[in-house]
Amino acid sequence: MTDAAAADAAPRDFIRQIVAEDLAAGKHGGRVVTRFPPEPNGYLHVGHAKSICLNFGIAAENGGLCYLRLDDTNPVKEDQQYVDAIVDAVHWLGFDWGPRLTHASDYFRQIHDCAVRLIEAGKAYVDSLSADEIREYRGTLTTPGRDSPDRSRSVAENLDLFARMRRGEFADGAYVLRAKIDMASPNINLRDPTLYRIRKASHQRTGDAWCIYPMYDFAHTISDAIEGITHSICTLEFEDHRPLYEWILDQLDFPARPRQYEFSRLNLAYTMTSKRRLAALIDLGHVDGWDDPRLPTVSGMRRRGYPPEALRDFCGRIGVTKKEHLIGMELLESCVRDDLNQRAPRAMAVLDPLKVVLVNYPAGQTETLVAANHPERSELGTRELPFGRELWIEREDFMEDPPKKFFRLRPGGEVRLRAAYIIRCEEVVKDAAGNVVELRCTCDAATRSGTGPDADRKVKGTIHWVAAHAALAAEVRLYDRLFTVERPDADPSGRDALEFLNPASLERRRDCRLEPSLAALAPGAWVQFERLGYFVADRLDSAPGRPVFNRVVTLRDTWAKLNRS
Ligand code: ATP
Ligand code: MG
Repeated sequence: MTDAAAADAAPRDFIRQIVAEDLAAGKHGGRVVTRFPPEPNGYLHVGHAKSICLNFGIAAENGGLCYLRLDDTNPVKEDQQYVDAIVDAVHWLGFDWGPRLTHASDYFRQIHDCAVRLIEAGKAYVDSLSADEIREYRGTLTTPGRDSPDRSRSVAENLDLFARMRRGEFADGAYVLRAKIDMASPNINLRDPTLYRIRKASHQRTGDAWCIYPMYDFAHTISDAIEGITHSICTLEFEDHRPLYEWILDQLDFPARPRQYEFSRLNLAYTMTSKRRLAALIDLGHVDGWDDPRLPTVSGMRRRGYPPEALRDFCGRIGVTKKEHLIGMELLESCVRDDLNQRAPRAMAVLDPLKVVLVNYPAGQTETLVAANHPERSELGTRELPFGRELWIEREDFMEDPPKKFFRLRPGGEVRLRAAYIIRCEEVVKDAAGNVVELRCTCDAATRSGTGPDADRKVKGTIHWVAAHAALAAEVRLYDRLFTVERPDADPSGRDALEFLNPASLERRRDCRLEPSLAALAPGAWVQFERLGYFVADRLDSAPGRPVFNRVVTLRDTWAKLNRS
């Protein structure tokens, strides 16, 4: 093997390294089984995408299996709407769980039976302390906890009380089932954690079959064991829960022995990744829903027009470590640009139209020019561009009194119209208020792109344009960062994230003029508007012949400048 090939084959991160070593040592019977276990209490975000790519990626790379498991143990916060959105998001990201779509609630019976076994073994007890009392008895990081008076209840009494909890004889909060571990443990998670609580709430899948629900740690560990998960990969906040995970497995004799490994969460600059905080933005009306293109949710990024391939590329490039880090948006955007540069055909659109009249071009005459759809990929073909006496150009491509290095249009100056002619600005027409409303220009007929005798005549600037007689009117939405600071949910000033909302995060341009070929673009299809960026026809708001476009990303990085200022 060459060095380069060896480097390619080397595991990319410490978790893949562990998996490779386990496989080499024949652990877990040579199997690799992972899972992605979201709680259906919100939509998935870019941080979940990282975890999805990691879990499904490791399984795929090692001929293993990955479960998509909905951790639905809290009926009060969960909803079928979220289940559907999660399934949809993982699928859209490009992953397939085959028949392995599961729910913690599929295992409620087995989890219950495990609880009974712990009680029988004297390892769990029913406690009548209130939630506040339990907290108080638990102690602190520096002081040990105290035993609950109920800790010494007999097995028979515990079994009876637990059965009555399950039958619905008690109100919410009257009793909980707790593991009997060690109230003096330096790890607070081991100070007799709650395993079951009473919740008289209908569950979106099991209805009213249960009125007691297992706590996360208990349900999660047993679900992993039932599914034969080999590598249970989660984020660092669960590191302190690992001893409890191990304790639970030690008490129960499942044939499988999953191991838990932790990595650091993805934090993305200028946004936040917490389902709870994202839900608040939606509830308060700061964004238009879970799929708002400004949100880092999977559905928001999809609507924004990020290709799933680009997101997977991003998740690969950020790596997997145990270090806390903040990833810049420029990395995500550069993955999107790299993907769309190949994929997106080119077209012209004018977002802030200024009228140009070609005074020497015969009124009523039109012609059809031809332009390549992609500068490198000739297989993407060509398109027809109608041309005529009246055109739209971008208002900012004209300046009456420009600075030295302005190579676009100025009074008396020349510019090339992309894929068309060189024009000269002869006269500037203004309204009563002094605003420029029209430019009267001449067109040099010999400079027609590709065919004219002076087709190669060079001028400093080339601008985009759209013929007025054939223009398609459309709305274009321009997005900017949602927050004005890098870590809105952890700003050093301690101010609330909402104070840092960017008031200009969405700009709707309702009066744009597009070349007519764009009328045929399907919702969800990508295009590069020359000189302006990559855009996508909005999946929901586009109508036949009346597309609405979202700007996916600008052509060049805009973050570098932002970070310097
Ligand atoms: P949130 O804080 O947004 O509610 P969560 O961790 O409560 O996230 P879960 O539904 O419990 O959300 O997460 C499912 C899986 O995704 C977990 O294994 C979790 O570790 C992982 N995960 C969540 N957020 C991130 C993140 N920012 N980066 C990487 N993995 C994450
Ligand atoms: Mg969670």
